[in-house]
Amino acid sequence: MQDKEKKHIKINKIDRNSEGHPYKKDYNQNYKKSQNNQCEISIIIPLFNEEESLKELHQQIKNQLEIINITNYEIIFINDGSTDNSLEIIRQIHYENPNVHCISFRRNYGKSAALAVGFKHARGKYVITMDADLQDDPAEIPNLINKLNEGYDVVSGWKKQRYDPISKTLPSKLFNAVTSITSGIKLHDFNCGLKAYKSDVVKTLHIYGEMHRYIPALAHWEGFKITEIPVQHHRRKYGKSKFGMRRFINGFLDLLTVLFTTKYMKRPLHFFGTVGTISFLAGLIIDLILSIQWIAGAKNLSNRPLLWFGIALIVVGVQFISLGLIAELITKQYIETKKDQYSIAEKF
Ligand code: UDP
Ligand code: MG
Repeated sequence: MQDKEKKHIKINKIDRNSEGHPYKKDYNQNYKKSQNNQCEISIIIPLFNEEESLKELHQQIKNQLEIINITNYEIIFINDGSTDNSLEIIRQIHYENPNVHCISFRRNYGKSAALAVGFKHARGKYVITMDADLQDDPAEIPNLINKLNEGYDVVSGWKKQRYDPISKTLPSKLFNAVTSITSGIKLHDFNCGLKAYKSDVVKTLHIYGEMHRYIPALAHWEGFKITEIPVQHHRRKYGKSKFGMRRFINGFLDLLTVLFTTKYMKRPLHFFGTVGTISFLAGLIIDLILSIQWIAGAKNLSNRPLLWFGIALIVVGVQFISLGLIAELITKQYIETKKDQYSIAEKF
């Protein structure tokens, strides 16, 4: 009986090595090998449960690249913790087309994280991002490349005719208007999944959280040359949007984030410090005047509510300045240590 069990365990082990994770090691080695040299174009596709569209998308991209005669390319799917069959489908596509690779997260980190990891791994002189749900049209790839060749660093898609519900297009209009004003770069559509970049840009940008929504603003702040071109947009064919009702809350918070981060991301103290200093000085002046009046013997301080207001302003001011300093420390730490640290289960 014991013998049998042992045998069984042994067989199990062999089975697991040859079937459970059969190609994992090879994938990683192949991946490393293929990572050594540059290629013409990297296409980065973040995806979260998009099993129905992947094959069709791959075929369309391949056709487009053939039309413009590009053979030295890579398509990197970033599987952002899909729970459907997406990973297996990408594996099949990878068998058929060795230019296709995949980086698969253990859990869902969000589109920004997926793009950040894609950017890190991209070997292309030009890098194109697009959504996996077939809403972005690969037929736009040649137009994007032409525009990069004109000398731009980033070409952003503009879904001029958009096929999304009004619950999405309306907040998006507001978002684009505010982002345009605060970032100082005039674009109609900041959050289009379809964009093209020169390699320098993707190696410079550090995106995390929900920052994918305003990559053009960040690139602009880094000094890159940006333009946009109208692109064909399609209705979502399969599945549903991965940004549900939380879009409204997130949309509002993003608005604040945009306001805050475009100007103050790297220097939170400039924001908190300014508010804090104004408050502190206002309180100080009020209380100084009251104190002088008191010393001069003119007024009694015990029945002057203004005194407490002045004290409150001073305390709030000090609080804001300290908050700014703490935010500064956290930002620095975050940017230096936390960036790009996502749990990757597999690469091939
Ligand atoms: N996506 C992702 N991680 C997420 C949410 C979305 O990788 O947490 C991908 C998604 O699979 C799609 C792209 O990001 O390829 C855009 O998402 P979606 O189509 O849901 O956004 P919408 O078009 O509704 O703005
Ligand atoms: Mg979509």
